[in-house]
Amino acid sequence: MRYYPRPMGKLINELSKLPGVGPKTAQRLAFFILGRNKGEVNELARALLDARENIRYCSVCNNLTEEETCNFCSSLERDRSLICVVESPKDVIAMEKTGEYNGLYHVLHGSISPMDGVGPDDIRIKNLIPRLKEGVDEVIVATDPNAEGDVTAMYLAKLLKPLGVKVTRIAHGLPVGGDLEYADEVTLSKALEGRREL
Ligand SMILES: [Zn+2]
Repeated sequence: MRYYPRPMGKLINELSKLPGVGPKTAQRLAFFILGRNKGEVNELARALLDARENIRYCSVCNNLTEEETCNFCSSLERDRSLICVVESPKDVIAMEKTGEYNGLYHVLHGSISPMDGVGPDDIRIKNLIPRLKEGVDEVIVATDPNAEGDVTAMYLAKLLKPLGVKVTRIAHGLPVGGDLEYADEVTLSKALEGRREL
């Protein structure tokens, strides 16, 4: 016998696919949603679809954007001589929260991981090269402080240094094996300040 009417079971099933949401939380969320009025549920459904349909990757830096280029790339107030390379758009947010960085970004959408068969061509490195011609002095590699982040940083240093650009990596002091996005703002701004040339 089924516990729930079919649409409810389906809702719980879909919600439980979200990261960090177990069956119990999914059930709680489903009951919450059912308790809302139709207008509120409509807003939620529309926000989900709108985000999925209208957010894409910036054609310059691969960050998330609604336009052709993201807010950072199109801003006149950012320092265009600096590019900070990160693994995910979440890391852009973490860097911004430090309030210490005013350059541009480049989002790789992953890291090189030979163990998982992820090579340099499987992440978004290629479109970083043409950007270096536009007055970039320094590329700050802010990949995660783990084995894949290290491999990626070394690869980038080898690739970019011959092109005449300074390549630095943010300092360790970040929890090793951790994720950049979970570092607190003070730790991350210290790591940025203490970056070293690769
Ligand atoms: Zn961009």
